[in-house]
Amino acid sequence: MKILVVNSGSSSLKYTLFDMADESILFSGEIERIGLDNGNHSFRSRQGEEKTLETRIRGHGQALDAMLDTLAQESLSSLHEIVAVAHRVAHGGKYRDAVRISPEVMDEIRRMTPMIPLHHPPMIEEIEECESRMPHAVHVAVFDTWFHASIPDEAAIYGLPYRYFEQGYRRIGFHGHSHAYVCACAAKYLEQPIEALKMITCHLGNGASLCAIDGGRSIDTSLGMTALEGLIMGTRSGDVDPGLIPVIMNEESLSPDQMMNMLYRESGLKGLSGVSSDMRDVEAAAHHGDRRALLALDAFCYRVKRYIGAMLMVLGGCDVLVFAGGIGRNSGTVRRKILQGAEGLGFVLDENKRVTESAEDQPVLDVTGPGSRVRILAITTWEEIVMARQCLSVLKKGA
Ligand code: ADP
Repeated sequence: MKILVVNSGSSSLKYTLFDMADESILFSGEIERIGLDNGNHSFRSRQGEEKTLETRIRGHGQALDAMLDTLAQESLSSLHEIVAVAHRVAHGGKYRDAVRISPEVMDEIRRMTPMIPLHHPPMIEEIEECESRMPHAVHVAVFDTWFHASIPDEAAIYGLPYRYFEQGYRRIGFHGHSHAYVCACAAKYLEQPIEALKMITCHLGNGASLCAIDGGRSIDTSLGMTALEGLIMGTRSGDVDPGLIPVIMNEESLSPDQMMNMLYRESGLKGLSGVSSDMRDVEAAAHHGDRRALLALDAFCYRVKRYIGAMLMVLGGCDVLVFAGGIGRNSGTVRRKILQGAEGLGFVLDENKRVTESAEDQPVLDVTGPGSRVRILAITTWEEIVMARQCLSVLKKGA
């Protein structure tokens, strides 16, 4: 049974075609830096053949066309071979578990768009386009929020008048597939029962969040009801004193939409550095002496450090710290800056120890230094397999 998983991030579109008989990958691809000048589309066949096309992809609609055309040309005799499509959706509102897409589900996803203005429009466009090009397939929405349903009220509530909590305004959290996957992967790598571990997982990509996981259950996370809270991200601000928002709006006569645009698209690494939203570009500029880029890099790392401190107290200790996401997995510089000075708290990093082993078929980079109380791992996240499994279970339930 062939299941296609489509994961549209804020600036990327990743897709994987699985044969769920044995969970093997038939074809996968990634379109990166959507909207930027130096975009590319790389894909990999089952035989391991890889291709990268340097191409400027203007928006998510164009990215989707490129994905479907490539699949049709390179991997399938017809798109009809795809039995089901798992679509990553950030915020499912009342839906937390994966669900077959219906007009009611789409209405609920659209209702959540003001909470997720950066992700939901491309996700909705992607679902509609896929449904029209693959009407034969079952379309399933899998939600980022599912993993955080276990967060207790005192962590979820905002300090607003209580009626907002009653109306459903609460911290929801995102990146659930990634936090859940790397947590399971770390436990497997360490050969310890997940129930016995206190873990902090740092998903650091264009979007970024931390999660405190106690015995495999999320008990707190840095993202809230929208995709803005917490860490500094590629183009998003993360935490800002809420009192500043109306002050800036008044001073610059900004509408709510203009203010949102600034917080979501013009802030974060991009707004701070003036160089790029992409960490590779920011690191390179900082390395070449660009002071704003260095400040952006330092501020990004400082915010992660501060949240790790918070999660450490929330958990009452930590056995494992996991770095994931494009930045967390790949940037030794970022990991070094985050953990600088944390040796006394049991976090001893050794970036020279390049031990890589496999768990759940993904490489785990163990960067735990000598005498570290906490195991420190960098893991390539694999959100797609979590989504494919959830999609399959929806198909089975419907059978
Ligand atoms: P998304 O949230 O779009 O899925 P990813 O998890 O793919 O994002 O992460 C993208 C980010 O990872 C970009 O900022 C990119 O620059 C960064 N990144 C990828 N590789 C590296 C690297 N080797 N060093 C530093 N940053 C990297």
